[in-house]
Amino acid sequence: MKQTKGIVWGIVASQTICLSVTANSLEYWDFDVRQNRVEIVTNGDVRPKAQMIANPTRLIIDLPGVKLGKPSVRQGNISGYVNQVRVGQFSPYTTRIVVELASQYSMRPWEVKVRSLAPNRWFVQLSDFQPHDVYSLPIEEEPVAIAVPAAKSSPRPRSGYTVVIDPGHGGRDPGAIGLRGLQEKGVVLSISLGVAEILRKRGLRVVMTRASDSSVSLRGRVKKADQANGNVFVSIHANAVGGNKTQVNGMESYYYSSGYRLASTIHRNILRKVTVVDNRGVKRGRFYVLRKTKMPAALIEVGFVTGNIDNRNLSNPSYRQKLAQAIANGILEYLR
Ligand SMILES: [Zn+2]
Repeated sequence: MKQTKGIVWGIVASQTICLSVTANSLEYWDFDVRQNRVEIVTNGDVRPKAQMIANPTRLIIDLPGVKLGKPSVRQGNISGYVNQVRVGQFSPYTTRIVVELASQYSMRPWEVKVRSLAPNRWFVQLSDFQPHDVYSLPIEEEPVAIAVPAAKSSPRPRSGYTVVIDPGHGGRDPGAIGLRGLQEKGVVLSISLGVAEILRKRGLRVVMTRASDSSVSLRGRVKKADQANGNVFVSIHANAVGGNKTQVNGMESYYYSSGYRLASTIHRNILRKVTVVDNRGVKRGRFYVLRKTKMPAALIEVGFVTGNIDNRNLSNPSYRQKLAQAIANGILEYLR
């Protein structure tokens, strides 16, 4: 073990000098159990380094020049294959993500793929998990480095884009009212504020049709969007169904004319990030705000306030923040 640590430290130490001037931080990370991959978003460009180390088998992803800015995070009992994912400040200038496999599993390092979507956004796709007897890393040896391609040069969206976020309802109009009195207007405002914050941090101009619990007419929303000269318009709503049908849960997205790619990109990003009970698809819908706005427009129904599962999720601030991140990711991907 001692030898292993020494080698890892050596790799990192050689880089600290040239990177010490950059102020880059880890904006977002996630281990997606279903897709079996780690997603990393930093607020500046990064070139991750990945390696596998034995005993216990773990994938190490180092982000040189990146500060975590938060205390270390651990997620335990991720899945049958993954014991733990932890993120910490490995050295003053390197953030480290460690995916530790359950003791009976291993991975072939050459099948681990590191992909870049942009210089600040990476996926580390884990390979299929193998029982140890099929393939196992040599114990107590040097880490096995994983090849990392150059970052995709397609940059982040140019600043200068304006995104209009439209939280449905508000003020006198609560929107749908669901189980335990959960109101659509509050749920969608909270998600929308989250989306706006993420996009602003990424340098985009964001205009909200409402940023508080206020009443805004449909015409007023369209007028605001057109006056802001928005590049995209995203309306955020939550669904409801009558008749005590609590088993109806799920997400759907709408477009009317030019917003199909916008709606489907956001939709796909939501499916990627959260577990959706029912994927109700991307549909054409005659919503006023979709028909009347001049820019590509999408309307997202994030879930059913009347659904037994969606209601619980939508009541949870951390789930709402996940949705906000997913919607923001979709908008950023669309603008790229
Ligand atoms: Zn609504």
